[in-house]
Amino acid sequence: ELAPSGRTARAVLAAMGERLHELEKHLGDLDAVAADGDHGTTMTRGMDAALHAADRAGPDAAAVLRAAGMAFADAAGGASGALWGSGLTTVGALLGAAGDDRPGAVYLAGAFEAAREAVIRLGGSVPGDKTMVDALDAFVREFRTAADGGARVTDAWSAAAAAARAAAEATKDMRARRGRAARLADRSVGTLDPGAVSLAESLTAAGAALRQ
Ligand code: ADP
Ligand code: MG
Ligand code: MG
Repeated sequence: ELAPSGRTARAVLAAMGERLHELEKHLGDLDAVAADGDHGTTMTRGMDAALHAADRAGPDAAAVLRAAGMAFADAAGGASGALWGSGLTTVGALLGAAGDDRPGAVYLAGAFEAAREAVIRLGGSVPGDKTMVDALDAFVREFRTAADGGARVTDAWSAAAAAARAAAEATKDMRARRGRAARLADRSVGTLDPGAVSLAESLTAAGAALRQ
């Protein structure tokens, strides 16, 4: 039986999964331009496993996200599987440390910053390398600004998701400097980074779910 925060975390993951299934072919097509074309199936496989684990975890958001992150990394494989797994488990760990079942926007901002640092440490990419880190960094920065300005979680999330979508859009004209696409970096110019798109779109769907 999930606590309220566990149900919220599960609903967020479910909304992300639904959006990833809608985008599966598109993400694969983007990934095929300069890399191996598996990003759509990697993300749906990972998120399906994360949801399965979330249903068996509990009761709170911390436990749900830790279980989901481990399952995601295991099932998805690939660069994005490890990075998403690390990001989800880091947010889960920070929520667990809060000792509060309903952390506010300022606390969440800190958890998202920790997740960004974990992803940067693991993947070695920084903003500007044309990876998911571009979208993640934009999300985290905007969420922090809104939270420190007094916004509630749903409003901070909406603003941050819009920033993530803009950052994903801005990867189009960039040259890939990390990941598989860096080997065919010239070919990546003119195409959105698939990992930035999947992250921005997932976060957007999650934000809509939080409003319900
Ligand atoms: P793989 O490259 O192993 O096939 P995916 O296709 O699922 O994995 O994911 C590709 C996406 O992962 C890229 O579009 C990029 O956003 C992200 N990515 C790849 N390598 C890194 C890295 N070192 N740091 C951050 N993000 C990365
Ligand atoms: Mg790939
Ligand atoms: Mg691959």
